[in-house]
Amino acid sequence: MQRSNLNKYLGVIGGGQLGKMIGLAAANLGIKSCFYDPDPDAPAKNISTLFFNEKYDNKIKLLEFANKCDFITYEFENIPMDCLKAVRKQKKIYPGIKALQISQDRHLEKSFITNLGIKVVKYANIKNFYDIENFLKKNTKKGILKTRKLGYDGKGQVRIELSNLQKINFHIKPNNYIIEELVRFKKEISVIAIREKNGRIKTFEPSENYHKHGILRKTIFPASISKNCASKAKKIAEKIIDSLDIVGILAIEMFVLKDEDIIVNEIAPRPHNSGHWTIDGCNLSQFDVLVRTIYNMPIPKIIYKRKCKMINLLGENFNEYK
Ligand code: ADP
Ligand code: MG
Repeated sequence: MQRSNLNKYLGVIGGGQLGKMIGLAAANLGIKSCFYDPDPDAPAKNISTLFFNEKYDNKIKLLEFANKCDFITYEFENIPMDCLKAVRKQKKIYPGIKALQISQDRHLEKSFITNLGIKVVKYANIKNFYDIENFLKKNTKKGILKTRKLGYDGKGQVRIELSNLQKINFHIKPNNYIIEELVRFKKEISVIAIREKNGRIKTFEPSENYHKHGILRKTIFPASISKNCASKAKKIAEKIIDSLDIVGILAIEMFVLKDEDIIVNEIAPRPHNSGHWTIDGCNLSQFDVLVRTIYNMPIPKIIYKRKCKMINLLGENFNEYK
């Protein structure tokens, strides 16, 4: 690796928990981080060598930030596209803008994955109330209405049934929502896939995830699925990451059905909460891998050191685990 021209900072858009962990992994590899976050108390502030406390729509500051950095990465998907386009003029953004654009819109995301020949849940784009009714009549009678954009941690979603459609007491803006069939899955799993600058692809083994009210509660490694199912999940992950021109990592959330058939729920081109187990469970974490791919450093063979269980503690549920 030639570091002679690369002696600035890894730029990280978003200084939350995930950003902080990217910064710590970078520091272990001898790379300084520069964070950009509008929150003056962003968790990553304490570990950042340089911190831009500016709004995401401040193009002048974004360019100043980009100028200080070798490369740019981000910790969350819902970054305004304008912000990224401004930064892209100066520096390369990893894992990549195409993947981000697709993952920002559930409709785009599902049609993209379907076009790869990979299964997703039955869904429809919603223009009005009658589209919802028709979808539920044709399919399982139970569904989830989701905003196409800006949803996370179960936000922007509401479960609905044909029998209580009146409960939808908000205005349906055309093309702002999708409806999905409610899937009776056996398990939820996720795979973190890795793509290097030379196009080589690897994956971590799948982990098993439990959600409560749409928020990740617990991740267990290894997932209790058959070898065949794990290998199918990894192949799906490889196919998706390969089609997105990613350099870095991509998390793929999947539903495993009764017959161990797999459908993809959603993708996230960034470190993922369900991948935190890699910090203690492996010789290198999802964050190490992200920084290594960005800086074109070799990715050693992944070694699994132990079984893991990760509990996702949030401000509100902390006391439940005391
Ligand atoms: P978010 O972007 O908030 O993570 P998801 O689509 O992943 O949105 O939904 C959060 C969780 O809600 C999922 O991990 C899963 O547990 C549940 N869920 C989402 N969609 C469905 C569905 N179609 N059928 C059953 N459960 C679902
Ligand atoms: Mg999700």
